[in-house]
Amino acid sequence: MKAIIFGAPGSGKGTYASRLQAKLNINVIVMGDIFREILKQNTDLGRKVKGYVEKGMLVPDDIVVQTLKNRLAELPADRGFIMDGYPRTLEQAKILETITPIDVILLLDVPDWIIIERSSTRRICKNCGTIFNIRFLKPKVEGICDKCGGELYQRSDDTPEVIKKRLQVYKDQTMPILEHFKQKNIPIITFRATSLETPPDTVVEQMMSELKKAKLI
Ligand SMILES: [Zn+2]
Repeated sequence: MKAIIFGAPGSGKGTYASRLQAKLNINVIVMGDIFREILKQNTDLGRKVKGYVEKGMLVPDDIVVQTLKNRLAELPADRGFIMDGYPRTLEQAKILETITPIDVILLLDVPDWIIIERSSTRRICKNCGTIFNIRFLKPKVEGICDKCGGELYQRSDDTPEVIKKRLQVYKDQTMPILEHFKQKNIPIITFRATSLETPPDTVVEQMMSELKKAKLI
């Protein structure tokens, strides 16, 4: 299965993607993580990416595409993937089609109020970027990352006003991409959150059953 997962910042898509990864033995491709890794490497590509990031500029599409191609080439051919954080623009969606076919779109539809509530209780690892939540996804030790022992922090821009702005940006960017995939007859499976308390595993079970129904797993 070659899937893309879409969901607003704070919708929990990283959590769902990593749980599906464990259940399906599938690769999760997180663009942000790939770049974080590249930045640490002393390679031509690393220096190029660093140049853009240090100037506060977006990494140009051709570099992103090359990075993505490299990453896909490293994957075992018989294993699928879930792509998270890419494509972010219609232009990128069109480029992606020239690199790999896509079987399905997983769309998380989470009401704004839930995202605002969740984001204000979110904590992130300074070291590896893993996301926790002091209400719903507590780390084993308060303030410490389960995965790497790094220190957890709260983003200073996790305020309702800034979150609302981020949600609007996400909607403006994502709608044309979804419309584009719809026109290409790529199935879009939507998961709607209705409660703040729904445990991630319930959503993951629902995802598994929908994917089975669609004969994708
Ligand atoms: Zn960590």
